[in-house]
Amino acid sequence: MPKQDYYDILGVKATASDEEIKRVYRNLAKQYHPDVNKGDKKSEAKFKEISEAYNVLRDHEKRKKYDQMKKFGAFGRGQSGGFDFGNFDFGQYRKPNFGGNRTGGSFSFEDLFGLGGMGDIFGDLFDRGERMRKERSGQSQRGDALYAEITIPFELAINGGKQFLNITVEEHCDDCKGTGAEKGTKPKTCPDCLGRGTISISQGFFAVNRTCPRCFGRGSIIEKICSICKGSGTVKKTKKLSISIPEGIQDNAKLRIRGQGASGIKGGKKGDIIITVHVSPHRFFKRTGKDILCEVPVDIIKAIQGTKIRVRTVSNKKVDIKLPTGVRNGKTFRLKGFGVKSKEGTGDQLVSISIIRRSNLSDEEKKLVEEYDNNGKLD
Ligand SMILES: [Zn+2]
Ligand SMILES: [Zn+2]
Repeated sequence: MPKQDYYDILGVKATASDEEIKRVYRNLAKQYHPDVNKGDKKSEAKFKEISEAYNVLRDHEKRKKYDQMKKFGAFGRGQSGGFDFGNFDFGQYRKPNFGGNRTGGSFSFEDLFGLGGMGDIFGDLFDRGERMRKERSGQSQRGDALYAEITIPFELAINGGKQFLNITVEEHCDDCKGTGAEKGTKPKTCPDCLGRGTISISQGFFAVNRTCPRCFGRGSIIEKICSICKGSGTVKKTKKLSISIPEGIQDNAKLRIRGQGASGIKGGKKGDIIITVHVSPHRFFKRTGKDILCEVPVDIIKAIQGTKIRVRTVSNKKVDIKLPTGVRNGKTFRLKGFGVKSKEGTGDQLVSISIIRRSNLSDEEKKLVEEYDNNGKLD
């Protein structure tokens, strides 16, 4: 059980965004990384703590469950209305038949989370509980959606194309068919909750139904855990996905890839993968709606005398623009149809002229510039 609130460990609010959590974690991780604090036990412990907190808070599902558990009072000391595991007598419950070969007649949450870092086990336990509850309900269920993020180059976002993404997906363990029990064995009905998955606890005048701590809400216990999935019922598989990026995709757009996510329950379909697409900025091009903006530097003397410039478009074509004599700074030329292609039509590329003034001008050139500037005042 964490000594401290995960949000407090990272020093963020409970409403912190993914980006904020990531940024704060990165800074802390840099500060406390064992490589930079060789032999410093305190830093090492702190590093573990922040990693554990991050491991839960970065994951949408785990974070959701952590928040639920917090609400449920699992981590608090005497929060009003909350349920305090710290004062709960687990002694009356025998050792849970879950993962590992601990001895002794009682267990504590510390034991439980000590199995391999709370971040790892936490999600698995409650995922499994939830899954088993759904399985008991008898209906088939679609697998959970997975969330991922990718950052793609600017041009790919404009022109569309393929992008690869490695993603780790939780799938049913074929060995135990998702039960978590060793091949050839079956989970038994939990004797403490008689398969209900919840137990009634009296708290003052109230009796409250809580998740059964012996079976974690599964309603069943496993005597011999599956050696392949370590009892979780699922195995993690890393897949390389080829993602079709539609042309004109916007920054922060979400793509849904159907049927590639987590396994379903009782023959339910696999879940989807939802990918948030971030678009890298480009050093030359900027996008505004359907249009592409760019700025082209032009020498002042050439601008005065009139010149031709060659501009690269976002589709990697080269287009010449004839500049009229005396063209002004900031003057914009429109290349029709060279913008972003989208369902709503195709945009344009807008080329803005940026006049470059230099100091090494001849006397004749200085005169031209003076005239150009005076004309500018009349405009
Ligand atoms: Zn298994
Ligand atoms: Zn039970």
